[in-house]
Amino acid sequence: MISWPAPFLPAVPGSGLPVRVYDTSTGTVRPVAPGPTARMYVCGITPYDATHLGHAATYVTFDVLGRALRDAGHQVEYVQNITDVDDPLIERAERDGLHWEHLATAEVALFREDMTDLGIIPPDHYIGVVESIRPIAAAVGEMLDRGVAYRVSTPGAAGDDIYFDLSTEPGFGSVSNWTREQMMAVFADRGGDPERPGKRDALDPLLWRAARDGEPWWENERLGAGRPGWHIECSCIALEFLGMAFDIQGGGSDLIFPHHEMSAAQAVALTGKRPFARTYVHQAMVGLDGEKMSKSKGNLVLVSKLRADGVDPMAIRLALLAQHYRTDWEWTDDCLVRAERRLATWRSALSVNAGPGADATLARVRELLADDLDTPGALAAVDRWAHECLTRGGTDIAAPGIVARMLDALLGVRV
Ligand code: ZN
Repeated sequence: MISWPAPFLPAVPGSGLPVRVYDTSTGTVRPVAPGPTARMYVCGITPYDATHLGHAATYVTFDVLGRALRDAGHQVEYVQNITDVDDPLIERAERDGLHWEHLATAEVALFREDMTDLGIIPPDHYIGVVESIRPIAAAVGEMLDRGVAYRVSTPGAAGDDIYFDLSTEPGFGSVSNWTREQMMAVFADRGGDPERPGKRDALDPLLWRAARDGEPWWENERLGAGRPGWHIECSCIALEFLGMAFDIQGGGSDLIFPHHEMSAAQAVALTGKRPFARTYVHQAMVGLDGEKMSKSKGNLVLVSKLRADGVDPMAIRLALLAQHYRTDWEWTDDCLVRAERRLATWRSALSVNAGPGADATLARVRELLADDLDTPGALAAVDRWAHECLTRGGTDIAAPGIVARMLDALLGVRV
């Protein structure tokens, strides 16, 4: 699928430091330590509603991570999927009297506009499930051959549903490190079907859903008519474009379980190799009025709505960067007011002909970003430079340009 236009990345003097991030699977802050090319997979949207600030926070975080890796001298190979056929999309389309494909197309188009305006570097491979049905089905067939998947007879459907047998993968649980009790507590709410009769284990995830009346399906000679389950799409798309042991698997913290746990276990079962990803990085949740912002709760602040109201997308980006990616936080109108004020201050400071030297600020921002993406710290370092520039001035005629290019290249903020 086409993604969106890439922003221009200006050159900044020197280079960044090796990047360290918090890895959920080991519970430690550790070096990403990629080879010359850092391979990153970030789970994409299910396009049934517009991008809210929780999504935007995720894609901004991984955008900053990609920028820090580029600044440290790596190429970045970035893959993102689109869950463009799944139950929530089909249900929403039916509720609204739309064809599911039309709804998906419209929401993906809006997502592209949001990402473009927020200055997000697009993925190199932006891959929908609908365009990946054949490789996913082939993988499910391979899992049946390997004896790690099984059929569950499904009266009323065109054939059998197919499930992954978790008992065949001893590494299951190593992404989240959750207890079975913790897993069971959220599984049903996050797309699982623990009550489904005929499953060997309540947590076994669906790989292939046999065609039902009124649902989209694709013919497959081996599996029968149907469509892929959710987690297997990411196992397959990541394997196809990045291979095993890629550097970063990313997404919101609500994907830790079951989505990332299942995607990893399935890929290991499919290939016989491990690990799926070397590092698992998760964006904390953004709340509104005391609850996690989510489509199912309907308490959303939409990026497109803010843009339509005339909010500068760079202020939205700055409001997101003002929070550390690992801390849950609440969106309030004040977040935006503070970001707009900060942007105005920076713009004033950067419009001068000469300012205080930029070297120390550039070094500090690089240090903070390399240390588990400390974006609030990086913004504060720029605030100090801007404050000095506006109160005491400076004589370095190169400095405002360097700071502006640093903000653009490292933080994605165009002033
Ligand atoms: Zn995914």
